[in-house]
Amino acid sequence: MSRALGDRVYRGEMTRRDFLWLLSAASASVVVPTISGCATHPVTGETVVVGLSEQQEIALDRQHAPHQFSKDYGAVQDDRLNSYVSGVAANLAARSHRPTMPYSYRALNANYVNAYTFPAGSIGVTRGILLQMDNEAQLAALMGHEIAHVNARHTAQRAGQGMIASLVVSGVAIAASTSDRTAGYAPLVNIAGQIGASALLASYSRENEREADSLGMAYMTRGGHSPQGMVGLTQILVQQSKEKPGLLDTMFASHPMSAERYASMQAEAAGKYASMASVPLNRERYMDNTAALRRLRPVVEDQQRGERAMASKKLDEADAAFASALRAAPSDYAGLCLMAKCKMAQKRYSEAHSYVMQARRAYPGEGQAMQLAGITNLTLKQHPAALQEFSNYERALPGDPNAAFFKGVAYEAMQDRGRAAQEYRRYLAAVPQGSQAKVAVSRLQSWGYLK
Ligand SMILES: [Zn+2]
Repeated sequence: MSRALGDRVYRGEMTRRDFLWLLSAASASVVVPTISGCATHPVTGETVVVGLSEQQEIALDRQHAPHQFSKDYGAVQDDRLNSYVSGVAANLAARSHRPTMPYSYRALNANYVNAYTFPAGSIGVTRGILLQMDNEAQLAALMGHEIAHVNARHTAQRAGQGMIASLVVSGVAIAASTSDRTAGYAPLVNIAGQIGASALLASYSRENEREADSLGMAYMTRGGHSPQGMVGLTQILVQQSKEKPGLLDTMFASHPMSAERYASMQAEAAGKYASMASVPLNRERYMDNTAALRRLRPVVEDQQRGERAMASKKLDEADAAFASALRAAPSDYAGLCLMAKCKMAQKRYSEAHSYVMQARRAYPGEGQAMQLAGITNLTLKQHPAALQEFSNYERALPGDPNAAFFKGVAYEAMQDRGRAAQEYRRYLAAVPQGSQAKVAVSRLQSWGYLK
C-alpha cells in the first residue's frame, strides 16, 4: 500500500491493487501474549507444551471467529440447515473430552470447500463443502474432525511452538516492557500487530490431522454414526483434490489431505469399529435438511466460477458468472457481495454501490456489506454515509482497526481535521506500523498533532 492510498480513496482513483487490499482488509488487530507453559493433553493425558491457556483460547476465538465468519459471508439464512448442522455437531461435542467448551456451529455462505474451527469451538462449514457431501454420517465425520482439533488443543499447541507469533504480519511492534507483568507468567511479551483470523486457521501438521481424524471417528461413532461417514468424507476430499484442486486449496492449507488418511480411516472402520458396519448412513435425513441448499447448487457453481475468474483477473468473465448466479438467486447475499467487489475492481463504483446496498437489504445484520458500503460510499464521495456505515460495521464487528483508518480518511475529506486526527490516532494505537500507519503518522505530523 503506498502512502497515497487515502488520497486515491477519496479521489475515487483507487488502483486495482488498492481494491485487492481493501477487499482483504478485514483482518483484526489483537494483542496476543505468547506464553509457553505445560498442560495436560485432555485426550491422551500426556504433558504437552501449549502456548495458550483455556481463557486465552476463548478470548482469541471470540475476537477472531466473528470476523472470519463475516469474511465467509455470514451464516446461511436457512434456519433449518443451521440447526441441523448444530444438532449433529452438539451431540458429538457433548461426548468429547472437553464437553464444556463454548461450542457454536453454523453453515456459512462461502462457496469454497472448507470447514474450520477456532480454538474454543466456534465452528463453520461452508455451503461449498455441504454440497459435496451426501449423508449425515459424512457431516458427523466432518464435525467430529473439527471438534477433535479443539479437544486436542492443536491451535494452543501451535501457539506454544511460536506459530502465532511467527504469523504476525511484518511491521510488528514488540513492546517487551509492557504493562502486564502481574499475571505471573514469565517471560511475557505482548505483540501488537495485525493477526488475521487466518493465522489461527493456518495449517495443522499431518500429525494433527491424523489425530483429528482418529479422534473425530471416536466422537462420531460414540454419537451413533456409521464409521463409513469418515471413510466417505476422506474419499470425497481425496477425489476432489484430484478433480478440482483449486476449490480445495484453503481446505488443504488448513487440513493437509492425503490418500494415506483415507486408507487409515478405512482400516479403522474395518478394524476397531467393525461392529458398527451395519449402522445406517442417514442419507435421507441429510437430503431433507439440505434440500433448500441443494436447490442453490447451480448458483453456488456460478459463483465458484466467478471467484476463479476474479482470482485470475478475468473480470468480464467473473461479471458474467456472478450475473448468471444473481439471475437465479437475486437476493443471494454472497452473490451480491461478490458482484459488488467485481464492479469495484472494474471501477464501476455506482454499480458496485447499488449491489452493496442490495446486499445490505438481503442480510441486514451482516458486517461485510457494511464495510463494503463504507468503501463504496468513500469512492462516491458520500462521506457522511461512509462514516455511518463504518460505524455500523464497528458495532456489528468490533476490533477491525481499518474502520478507524477509513473514518479518518472520510473526516479528512470533509476537512474535519480534529475528528480525522482522533481516528488516525485510534488506528495507530492498534496498528503502530505498516503503510497505513505511515499515512496516519504523516497526517498527524503535518497537522501539528505529532512532532
Ligand atoms: Zn483438520
